Amino acid sequence: MPMYEFTCRACGAEFEDLCTAAEAAAGSVACPACGARKSERKLSTFASKDSSGGGGGGGCGHGSHGGFG
Ligand SMILES: [Zn+2]
Repeated sequence: MPMYEFTCRACGAEFEDLCTAAEAAAGSVACPACGARKSERKLSTFASKDSSGGGGGGGCGHGSHGGFG
């Protein structure tokens, strides 16, 4: 049996439980905190880290020579 993550809609507790896909979809898993069978299966999300690489510093020299006067 796969393990699913749930969020209790009654008390907001988050928990994991082993159950069938049907049970998970139906949300009939009892919350271990309050016992309510109003669990909502959490969607598995992939934590992706953004790696932004900044490389190379460009030096922009601006030189202006003006003759005034
Ligand atoms: Zn609960």
